[in-house]
Amino acid sequence: MSIQGKNYIGFSLSSESDHTFQSYVPVQNTTLPEQFYTATSGEVARAMELAAEAFIKYSVIPATQRADFLIAITEEIMAWGDVLLERAHLETGLPMARLQGERARTINQLTQFADLIREGSWVDASIDTALPDRTPVPKPDLRKMLIPIGPVIVFGSSNFPFAYSVAGVDSGPALAAGNPIIVKAHAAHPGVSDLTAQAIVKAAKRTGMPDGVFSMLYDDGFKVGAALVKHPSSKAVGFTGSFKGGMALYKLANERDEPIPVYAEMGSVNPIVVLPEYLKNNPEKLGKTLAGSVTLGAGQFCTNPGLVFVTESEGLDVFEEAYKDEILATPPATMLTAGIGNAFYKLRSEAIAQENVTPFAVSEVLSPDLENQSQASVAKVFGSDFITNPKLHEEVFGPFSLLVICKDTDELLSAVSHLQGQLTASLMADEAEAAKYPALLQKLSNISGRFIMNGVPTGVEVCPSMHHGGPFPAASHAFFTSVGRHSILRFVRPQSYQDWPDSLLPVELKNANPLNIFRLVNNETTTAQI
Ligand code: NAP
Repeated sequence: MSIQGKNYIGFSLSSESDHTFQSYVPVQNTTLPEQFYTATSGEVARAMELAAEAFIKYSVIPATQRADFLIAITEEIMAWGDVLLERAHLETGLPMARLQGERARTINQLTQFADLIREGSWVDASIDTALPDRTPVPKPDLRKMLIPIGPVIVFGSSNFPFAYSVAGVDSGPALAAGNPIIVKAHAAHPGVSDLTAQAIVKAAKRTGMPDGVFSMLYDDGFKVGAALVKHPSSKAVGFTGSFKGGMALYKLANERDEPIPVYAEMGSVNPIVVLPEYLKNNPEKLGKTLAGSVTLGAGQFCTNPGLVFVTESEGLDVFEEAYKDEILATPPATMLTAGIGNAFYKLRSEAIAQENVTPFAVSEVLSPDLENQSQASVAKVFGSDFITNPKLHEEVFGPFSLLVICKDTDELLSAVSHLQGQLTASLMADEAEAAKYPALLQKLSNISGRFIMNGVPTGVEVCPSMHHGGPFPAASHAFFTSVGRHSILRFVRPQSYQDWPDSLLPVELKNANPLNIFRLVNNETTTAQI
């Protein structure tokens, strides 16, 4: 393994700065030897200029070759073998099995995009042929399709070193659509980022992609990210991370002379609402399932269920006991960084210090050999106190959840009505009981990107019908998803071609339909030629 630690400006390495930083090992509270050079403003400018030049070439490379590039990235990632997994394990403290699964998900994401662009219909081509004899005015020939937009800036999150990082949910669709990317490497896993960058550069060279299709810059602060977003050649930003970080970049992007979209996937508390009949019939199962979801991966998931609403009704005691037992028995897990660990304990203390909030279950199982350990924690509050205290509606990133006890379903509806936009909402109810609460269903549907029935929100399937986003503040734009094929829509725009000769049209819009894609021709979906 050879980590370079230098900025990847297209196919060249650059290390102009005299400021470096090192990887942090959360399990041991130590650092690794390699130095990572933070990018200078000159290096930011060079990466952006190269990306703008690369866009001209890359955007017209046939989709099948871009697909080959994506597949080559998957091959080069896999070629690192355990080296990549071990580095990820060191830098994040995440278990090897979890990292293996996440790498597989990343490969799957890239492969899905390769398949999508190879097939080709995703460009949503539509053709309205001319009516030269129409009166009183002739109708022109109009053809429309989605086209790439230009260099995309990518910010990954600390908790997914593969799936939401250098070759993750933003990079895959941005590259698939025909845009160069410039990644701001996450300071929490710079070594994994470096190895992944090497895989992408190798794949780009191997498949004949232009220099500048990919760049990656380091920073252990916010200067480089801000400079990338502000650069005039940037055309969009994909961000996964905290609400604070996402909004800071969103504001910067909107203050530019040419504002650009920031597709920010941010934090969420993912409410779980339990109806009385369900509670009565499934108290033990519910307690166990919830505890498993709240503590999964030290609670470091954007889909972690941070709020659970129940009613004071039959089954509550049994549920509470089962929930408590599971939380108390939860072994410690390492948090991703010292900063995330400190923020967890600070925010948890602040939540528990709120009026009428009481600790309900706090795991005491700690290991003497590990640093930065999480402590699975659940607190309890009455619905009336929850309603009047917005502080309790906020995300505590880590294994923390608040149990909100409502006196009846009316109070439960009122409590839920105070929630903002979420990635997910879950309803625990059987079919007949759910049907009795249309207002509750409507409210939960209005605030969530994914509405789950009798299930927990952790676990995000990568498929076309997954929406991973939600109304603000879960995401900056409720329409868009960061998971699944539709995530490509963030990095394209529609363009109409009016009265263009067939020979000069993009291949997707030509009369003969040489790619045999589905198109809307004079209002009929077809693969037919014109
Ligand atoms: P983070 O601290 O916001 O960092 C994300 C990236 O943005 C990092 O590269 C960071 O730079 C950069 N950044 C943050 N604030 C910035 C600013 N003001 N200016 C410029 N750059 C900035 O988030 P995180 O700790 O990695 O991730 C945890 C959060 O992500 C949680 O809230 C979790 O819920 C959320 N999350 C959401 C999703 C989703 O799909 N919705 C998925 C996973 C995680 P540095 O590297 O220099 O710190």
